Amino acid sequence: AGARPPAGLAAPAAIFGEARRNSRGFDLSDEATLARIEAARNGPVPDAAPLTVSAGSGTRVAVANPATGELVAHVTEADAETVARAIDDARPWDAPAATRAAVLRRAADLYEAHFGPIFAALAREAGKTLPDCVGELREAADFLRYYAAEGEGATGRPRGVIAAISPWNFPLAIFTGQIAAALMAGNAVLAKPAEQTPLVAAIALRLLHEAGVPAGALQLLPGQGGTVGAALTADSRINGVVFTGSTETAQTIARAMAEHMAPGTPLIAETGGLNAMIVDSTALPEQAVRDIVASAFRSAGQRCSALRCLYVQEDIAPHLIAMIKGAMDELRLGDPWRLSTDVGPVIDAEAQAGIERYLESKANRILHRIWAPKQGHFIAPVLLRVEGIDDLEREVFGPVLHVATFRAGELERVVAAINARGFGLTFGLHTRIDSRVQEVSDAIHAGNIYVNRNQIGAVVGSQPFGGEGLSGTGPKAGGPLYLPRFFAPAEPAAPA
Ligand code: GLU
Repeated sequence: AGARPPAGLAAPAAIFGEARRNSRGFDLSDEATLARIEAARNGPVPDAAPLTVSAGSGTRVAVANPATGELVAHVTEADAETVARAIDDARPWDAPAATRAAVLRRAADLYEAHFGPIFAALAREAGKTLPDCVGELREAADFLRYYAAEGEGATGRPRGVIAAISPWNFPLAIFTGQIAAALMAGNAVLAKPAEQTPLVAAIALRLLHEAGVPAGALQLLPGQGGTVGAALTADSRINGVVFTGSTETAQTIARAMAEHMAPGTPLIAETGGLNAMIVDSTALPEQAVRDIVASAFRSAGQRCSALRCLYVQEDIAPHLIAMIKGAMDELRLGDPWRLSTDVGPVIDAEAQAGIERYLESKANRILHRIWAPKQGHFIAPVLLRVEGIDDLEREVFGPVLHVATFRAGELERVVAAINARGFGLTFGLHTRIDSRVQEVSDAIHAGNIYVNRNQIGAVVGSQPFGGEGLSGTGPKAGGPLYLPRFFAPAEPAAPA
């Protein structure tokens, strides 16, 4: 039994533990679970279309599996007219906060109950490996339950209509997190999933409606950024935009909002990173290597949290780099649905070609590269030698790790170089010097700092996730400051 709160003070549920617990996930060694996953594997993935109050229209497009090229299903991409009508039809959710919380919790349960079809869509549409499917579904359920717990006692007013624009790399978790927070504050939401991943979004949306979210409070607008995103961000009836994606797109959205929306309309953006890790000569090499490989190559490097630039102290560099190469050789690429697969494909042909072009331009810097399947959009994990983070031209969104060395006494210079790039999402440090943990953490500009572990996979409620500088506006998702942003600011008190 835990401590009781002092009389008269409400106990935050998260601390006194009445309700919220993170999802337990799915046991991939359990035969019954595996049988259900296997049964879903070849089941049909339903087509996606605008899920709006009035009938929508648009262009029908095929969605292909990035690992095989196989047709998964079709999506009808909304046109500008459908977007305009959905904005007309949007209605804030005026149920009591406790009702909204109960509905979001029911949605979390429905998500978990439908893990088979959700995993099938995640694997076939987004190329997610099974462990990544598990992580993603857990995170989505966690967001629903976390914002429900944070908001159920809230009395604030909604802002109105929120546009939620989400990325393909977390087509369920980030998609759901944005929606859950906006809905929990009572807003109407217009959700625009990434053009690469409309199918998972459509499944999620149906479950949210089934749980009890009213049709006018949540509409789905699959389609192109240039059409749906542009129409949403240039409409003065939108009262807030929540976005995760590239820094450039966030800047485009901010410009459109400045031109078309009321001053003060919030943009909550989580964007890119040039994430670094520093490994000094006191680090435990086995642990560092495991964490480096996970941070750089899991999810095929397609996480904005992923490690891009590793700094290794010179005296251990030859040894550590040899170990990294060895660990890379152990990685298996291939069918994301096979349990033994570590690295799946990148999202599509365009992503693959862009990364390959980058690697061709850096051919003389390649230290190590492993094998990848010829069929499908695979990129073989690769290690590139650089002098420092200044050699990285941009965020390369794939399994590409740059490595530099530094000498004892150069740590301050390295930290300054990392900070000077202006991003600030994740940062990793491997050291066994306690005072160094404090010094470096104080000096580095990053939203999420990880010490002696990997730097991906933030956990809702315990590791709020988000960056600073070019990496985003904050507040961090899955933390206590996020939900309050979705309420209208309190009215100024009337003058006496
Ligand atoms: N929250 C994810 C993580 O901690 C990353 C989110 C993203 O890539 O957008 O790895």
